[in-house]
Amino acid sequence: MKVSYYSRLSPEHISILEEFTKDVPVKVGALAKALGLKVVVAALPLKISGLIKPDPDGGFVIKVNRFEPKERQRFTIAHEIAHFLLHRDKIQAGVVDSVLYRSKLSSRVEAEANRLAADIIMPLDKVSELSAVYRTQGDHQIIATLAETFQVSRQAMEIRTGD
Ligand SMILES: [Zn+2]
Repeated sequence: MKVSYYSRLSPEHISILEEFTKDVPVKVGALAKALGLKVVVAALPLKISGLIKPDPDGGFVIKVNRFEPKERQRFTIAHEIAHFLLHRDKIQAGVVDSVLYRSKLSSRVEAEANRLAADIIMPLDKVSELSAVYRTQGDHQIIATLAETFQVSRQAMEIRTGD
């Protein structure tokens, strides 16, 4: 996870992230909890994947759309965690993410959240380790197997392995 935003994370957050990205599938719900975040699976409008907003009891709450596939919900939780880790000062009354992960925040900020979300849910060292394990399966099948192992969509894994 040695990328530009790394230096902006607190040592405490880094150690929590490292602990939770050691094993796959990454337990994103438990990770959120360890970071002090509440996660609610909710009936959100169809064009919304998720949101993060201040919780009335203090801290922040993440809501994820229950109508979307499980794999997609996992990525959304990771995306909202990324907003918390990197963009807390910009959340204000809340950040609502569309299905394209667009919000009131700039596309640069959204791209950054997607990058950290991918680092959380598809740790590169694990992706390369398991790609080597599955390499006899052939490219197409490897993506499917990896997606299943990491519990992410094939599309997300395809983008990740193309990184
Ligand atoms: Zn976002």
